[in-house]
Amino acid sequence: MTEPILLTPGPLTTSAETKAAMLKDWGSWDGEFNALTASVCRDLVTIVHGRDDHVCVPLQGSGTFAVEAALGTLVPKGAKVLVPDNGSYCKRIVRILGYLAREAIVLPHGEQEPADPARIDAALTADAAITHVAQVHCETATGILNPLAQIATTVANHGRGLIVDAMSSYGALPIDARTIRFDALIAATGKCLEGVPGAGFVIARRVALERCGSHSYSLAMDLLDQWQYMQKTGQWRFTPPTHVIAALRAAIDQYHAQGGQPARLLRYAANCDALVSGMRSLGLKTFLPDALQAPIIVTFYAPPDPAYDFSEFYRRVRERGFILYPGKLTAVDTFRVGCIGAIGSDVMRQAVRAVAEVLREMGVRRLAHE
Ligand SMILES: *Cc1c(COP(=O)(O)O)cnc(C)c1O
Repeated sequence: MTEPILLTPGPLTTSAETKAAMLKDWGSWDGEFNALTASVCRDLVTIVHGRDDHVCVPLQGSGTFAVEAALGTLVPKGAKVLVPDNGSYCKRIVRILGYLAREAIVLPHGEQEPADPARIDAALTADAAITHVAQVHCETATGILNPLAQIATTVANHGRGLIVDAMSSYGALPIDARTIRFDALIAATGKCLEGVPGAGFVIARRVALERCGSHSYSLAMDLLDQWQYMQKTGQWRFTPPTHVIAALRAAIDQYHAQGGQPARLLRYAANCDALVSGMRSLGLKTFLPDALQAPIIVTFYAPPDPAYDFSEFYRRVRERGFILYPGKLTAVDTFRVGCIGAIGSDVMRQAVRAVAEVLREMGVRRLAHE
């Protein structure tokens, strides 16, 4: 039996080569593994066009661990962080800041509204005590793309620090560290680079990391300590996710061989187009207008038909070989379909066919509100 295709935004479907890279054990002290870590970190900086003024600090754990570590390390006590909020990953940042006892100023937006650089500008003008802005690039809760370049310019003009959660965009959407000024940009192994989950990484502006001193509340989450130890020894401080890094090395090699970021974006955009046009031809509606949609994950309104039930829908689509993702909105009933992973638009078309068959079988006739 073939494994189901993951239409989820991480973990996602990985290639056979990436899976095969994990069929070996690595010693954490061994020079061969240290060289692997160093090569991966070099590439992770280069992918966003960073040079010597940026460093990569990897961290064990899921993506949220790296977000928390970046905030805990780079945002000092007494700092005040502006969080433009248009979805649940923005709200997660606010929760993290609460745990860290750092003041958060939430700038509420609608879930169908991109973060507004003009409102960020006004908030920074109004409150000189705001030291940082924490911005999610692609808000995976809906799939909306926030205008990172304009926001970065606004934040830089005010001389404040910028922390970017680029978890679901890094590697697929263009991010240029030469023109986008950030203190930290956070991503993970198991998203658009198509590695397996298990580690996050923070691309930090070297001076921002060096000057932050030791104020991390937590030893395990102290990125400065992790980086300094790695500089000294070439090793991770604590047991490294060896297989995850080996898989990431293989995934990055394929990424480069396939044409890097522009090629990845093209493939995901084709996946997204095939998905959206196919689902619309069935009668389903997207939550976002096309102009705001990032080609990473698409939110669809659940059919308003009484015969529709997400868990039954999910189960039957899974039987046909595709794993969908539940919605993450409070006000409206939705479900999500990821466009990322080692898959092409042929797979998206097969998934649409599976959805069509399942809806027919379930007797779901009314697919959208007028
Ligand atoms: C995936 C993701 C994260 C991290 O989630 P984990 O479940 O901790 O890996 C953070 N932010 C965004 C925008 C994401 O898409």
